[in-house]
Amino acid sequence: MLIAGNWKMYKGPAEAAEFCVELRRRLADLEGVDVAVCPPFTSLAVAVQVLAGTDIAVAAQNVHWDEEGAYTGEVSASMLRELGAYGAIVGHSERRQLFGETDEGVGKRARAALESGLSVIACVGETEAEREAGETEDVLRRQISVLEAEDNLVVAYEPVWAIGTGKTATPEIAQEAHAFIKSLLDVPVLYGGSVKPENAAELLGQPDVDGALVGGASLDVESFAAICLAGTR
Ligand code: PEP
Repeated sequence: MLIAGNWKMYKGPAEAAEFCVELRRRLADLEGVDVAVCPPFTSLAVAVQVLAGTDIAVAAQNVHWDEEGAYTGEVSASMLRELGAYGAIVGHSERRQLFGETDEGVGKRARAALESGLSVIACVGETEAEREAGETEDVLRRQISVLEAEDNLVVAYEPVWAIGTGKTATPEIAQEAHAFIKSLLDVPVLYGGSVKPENAAELLGQPDVDGALVGGASLDVESFAAICLAGTR
């Protein structure tokens, strides 16, 4: 069971440090759940420092496929490893929708990160229009086709219509999509999309839900800690 918090473009270094001190305190006795926070690039170092010596991992929100080069605005896997990050998210729907990332690029990012020894959370998920048009399985098949099963790869199923909208997939919808993804690729699958303390236990209780990628509710330490605790049940 993995609970990862995607902070998106929230929390600079000072706020990140304060959050991590408190998270560390609240999760000191947590067992049976892996926890990761994914701060923006500028807050990674302080998160690594504050969480050193705990089991709480720190991951980036993206990673480039090349080791170094003329790629303004990008960060490589070896840079993240040097910093002490354990992994990176790739293919978040905001990257795909707002920054033009493609399946091919997501595949390259995932492969390079895994090869360099980072863990990867690769996000997939259909839009509302795609679901309504009955295209969910085709979209998932296409997005998964660029990934290969590896020990340090997990997929996050994040239906775009449920991200930041307050519309959570029902546990049945999540379970069905997770089972489909696992039929394509044998890796753990996290659910993401408006996970909150109130709905976490039911979603995490589904047989093919192996954890959660949490956006909005991961910004508040009390609600993020409550979701982590829900993963122990
Ligand atoms: C996310 O951005 O990965 C996410 C799941 O966001 P939220 O929990 O806010 O829907």
